Amino acid sequence: MGKNQKTVNEDQMTDIIRLLPDSLANQIAAGEVVQRPASVVKELIENSLDAGAGEIQVIIRDAGKSSIQIMDNGTGMSVTDARMCFERHATSKLKTSEDLYAIRTMGFRGEALASVAAVAQVELKTRRAEDELGTLIVIEGSIFKKQEPAACNPGTSILVKNLFYNVPARRNFLKSAPIEMKHIIDEFQYHALGMPESSMRLFHNDLEIYNLPAGKLGKRIVNLFGKNYQEQLVTCHEDTDHVKVWGYIGKPEYAKKTRGEQFLFVNKRYIRNNYLNHAVITAYEGLLPPDYFPFYTLFLELDPAHVDVNVHPTKTEVKFIDERAVYSVIRTVVKQALGTHSIIPSIDFSNDVNYSLDSKLGGASASRTMADLNYERLRSGEFQNLRNWETVFEGLTERVAGAGPEIAGGKAGSSPEISTDAENFPGIVSPATFQLHNRFILSQIRSGLMIIDQAAAYQRISYEKFMKNLMDRSGNAQRLIFPVTIELNPTDLSLVMEIMGEINNLGFEVETFGGKSVIINGIPSGMNNFSEKEIFENLIEQFKLNRDKLKLDIQENLARSLSRYASSRYIKKLREEEQGLLIDQLFACANPNYTPTGEPVYTIFTLNQIDDLLKKKS
Ligand code: ADP
Ligand code: MG
Repeated sequence: MGKNQKTVNEDQMTDIIRLLPDSLANQIAAGEVVQRPASVVKELIENSLDAGAGEIQVIIRDAGKSSIQIMDNGTGMSVTDARMCFERHATSKLKTSEDLYAIRTMGFRGEALASVAAVAQVELKTRRAEDELGTLIVIEGSIFKKQEPAACNPGTSILVKNLFYNVPARRNFLKSAPIEMKHIIDEFQYHALGMPESSMRLFHNDLEIYNLPAGKLGKRIVNLFGKNYQEQLVTCHEDTDHVKVWGYIGKPEYAKKTRGEQFLFVNKRYIRNNYLNHAVITAYEGLLPPDYFPFYTLFLELDPAHVDVNVHPTKTEVKFIDERAVYSVIRTVVKQALGTHSIIPSIDFSNDVNYSLDSKLGGASASRTMADLNYERLRSGEFQNLRNWETVFEGLTERVAGAGPEIAGGKAGSSPEISTDAENFPGIVSPATFQLHNRFILSQIRSGLMIIDQAAAYQRISYEKFMKNLMDRSGNAQRLIFPVTIELNPTDLSLVMEIMGEINNLGFEVETFGGKSVIINGIPSGMNNFSEKEIFENLIEQFKLNRDKLKLDIQENLARSLSRYASSRYIKKLREEEQGLLIDQLFACANPNYTPTGEPVYTIFTLNQIDDLLKKKS
């Protein structure tokens, strides 16, 4: 302290506050905006997008440590703007304080270029289409080294060399090339997903990593992540007064054990938000094994006045005025998409849900997908999977016609009765089904062949029936002629007493008996293949397991436990009528695609896939 003060001259001794020189202020500000090469990539891509670029090239050397270059065909800058853009708080995107509440651009703080130029050697070439000559500017550590007219293409090219060359501590802090490159690729992906309307290329050490043509979101996802994503995507789309949601989610069976493919955008800006992520993940409830993460790319569009993107310099954290409302819309949209996706086995890319920010409702409805229509019906309460099913399922129409009102005309939401007894369903026209090894039902559908896992189907059907029993307290017990007494240990007995009401709603008739036992007077209908004691004991065991491992609520837990047990013996010969009935009941379910624990219930082979399988390879 004392030593430093000696360098201050006499008349400044009393006043010690000084303004930081610009270069130092910029360097400090840079600390917030530019953490690593990927931050530069992010800021520069965002500038290109804000400049309306339809083509962007990102050229990286040594994971960005040697150089980062971004070239665009956007608006370009005038001579003055080219000089100005490196000043701190220089922005063309905000004029008045009101603009801060109507932000539609990626940048607005006017800090990025000043920050980057403070900690690197930067070369800017830019030209507006209407100017004959462009401008070249070289700036290093905030000091202008060169400015001259230059011949160049319309648009802007910014070359950033030797990042942190003048801040050795920060340069040393950079991670290994693979790690820094991973961050760059992540940033590139966020923007590639956020703006599929622009073509984007990424090079690393002269190697082309991505070459993404401009197109629709679905195509962009496939180009980024691989062709196999085509069949895993399900469209989402919903407009409310408050928020519009659209995009794609991954089918549960493609979920991965690692995170990293969850992308959320607000007004086209990639954001991170644990709360809203939770909304998506819980919509998959029961469809995913624990610790699996589904793919999603979802866009939210809401009035910019309802979002605050100015809470953090890098703008990946935003604040919502009504986060809970947004949460519930997201959750509902994803749930509905999961419930309806069976209807379209794979995505029709001509019906992409890729709306531009300003697309009007009319434009949006032109590209509505079948899932949207189904969703509409679901919302208006008319939805029946059975109906939609007809469009895929050849031959079902006749079968339904002959099936009688209890199947074809069942009210939406009414629980299908389960019976393994074909005698109850005489006169059904034979469906086009075939049973394989007492385990699978094969059926011809329009697009090819469907293979249904019979036990899984039964589990889904039972689960929904039990859930309904619990919700409506409508479980029908089959009364036993000889009631059964079961002795329980004290822990189990107190558990049973605690959930006795729910057990009886499920369809049991159970009461305590003496101090140590319960007496079973009835069991849920349709479970007469099992011994009552077995059913009950297994239910309690499974319930405890689920409670400890999955922390399910009581109803979900009971329905899952019992349906699991009910289906455990459903590997058996089924008559053709029973096969048809099982299919009908399955597709009358709210979610026919998965068992309650997330196993797929059926799979579809398209004729093309079968052709491919049989193709001679020579
Ligand atoms: P911000 O994006 O927050 O406005 P920046 O420091 O990133 O601040 O950029 C400053 C200004 O420079 C922008 O507002 C814009 O006018 C101009 N600019 C930056 N990059 C480009 C580009 N690629 N094309 C055209 N103009 C650009
Ligand atoms: Mg910017």
